Amino acid sequence: MDFDELIERFGGVIATHQLLAAGETTASIRRALRSGALLPIRHGWYRTGAADADVVAAVSDHGVVSCASALRRHGLWTPDHPTALHSRLTRHQRRSNPDRCRRYGRPTPADGAIDDVATALQYAARCYDVEGFIILCDSALNSGKITPERLRADFGDAPAFIQRAVAKTHRLAASGTETAARVRLRNAGLRVRVQHQVPGVGWIDLLVGDRLALELDSIEHHTGIERYEKDRIRDRKLVAQGYFPLRLTYAQVFDDWDATYADIADIIGRGHHRSRAATWRSSDENHPSETDRALDGNDTPPPGGFQHPQLAHDLSPSHSVMTPTASFSLGPCSRPE
Ligand SMILES: [Zn+2]
Repeated sequence: MDFDELIERFGGVIATHQLLAAGETTASIRRALRSGALLPIRHGWYRTGAADADVVAAVSDHGVVSCASALRRHGLWTPDHPTALHSRLTRHQRRSNPDRCRRYGRPTPADGAIDDVATALQYAARCYDVEGFIILCDSALNSGKITPERLRADFGDAPAFIQRAVAKTHRLAASGTETAARVRLRNAGLRVRVQHQVPGVGWIDLLVGDRLALELDSIEHHTGIERYEKDRIRDRKLVAQGYFPLRLTYAQVFDDWDATYADIADIIGRGHHRSRAATWRSSDENHPSETDRALDGNDTPPPGGFQHPQLAHDLSPSHSVMTPTASFSLGPCSRPE
């Protein structure tokens, strides 16, 4: 048996049914136990010597790793949560335990010691608030670990507010910070586009209105002089094309949103997010107003399945490229027309 694969996929913890499905026999499992290659955890579950302690703890306590802990192991962007280890009981272990993650509906049978992405999201839907759940779904979509169709189908019987949350997911969101900013700004009534292309610049994370260009920076993003230079060139080019670039960090979004949003609201109040009819030409004749933003279809991923923003943009009818035709001033007290 391939213990390296077991360690990688299930944290070094394996169930009898998985071993048998992989071609092992009762006799070969006994031999592995005698040799010490496998160690018993509880009835029907075994571990290797190098097994992940959290996975062993979850299985020892009649559960499996799920929710955010499973999603983190699958490489997804997971928001902070007070619970350190997210685990859940299986259908066959219905002991009441308020510390375990639960899902809406019946418990799911456990295929292994760590839930797959689709199952873990079911538990995260009840464990996280709506924003946290959307962040997890966005990360799963963006990494290609689940499709929009599967996501909608899996939550087809979920409570209405969960279905509304699923409808707000976006597969092009590149980070949880970006998702949180998008969700909060849209909840505030603003029209926000995801991964908007600017000729000569590339893709900006979020475009609020017509020209407030939000970039969500990670700590890693700003390490290195090369990145530092590129960011400043990018901002300069955005300004040259009439955009209003604004960089937000993880801390500004998650730890200091009130102050961050107050400044964004001030920028919007001054009309800096709006295009000027005399100086801009839009390729979208039916460009929606900000009050239309919630219904403009930008929350709906384009069909077909893709990862690269370039392709996404090409396929999406909801994106419009704003083409500047002349310069204009960004007066500090300029107001919308
Ligand atoms: Zn949980």
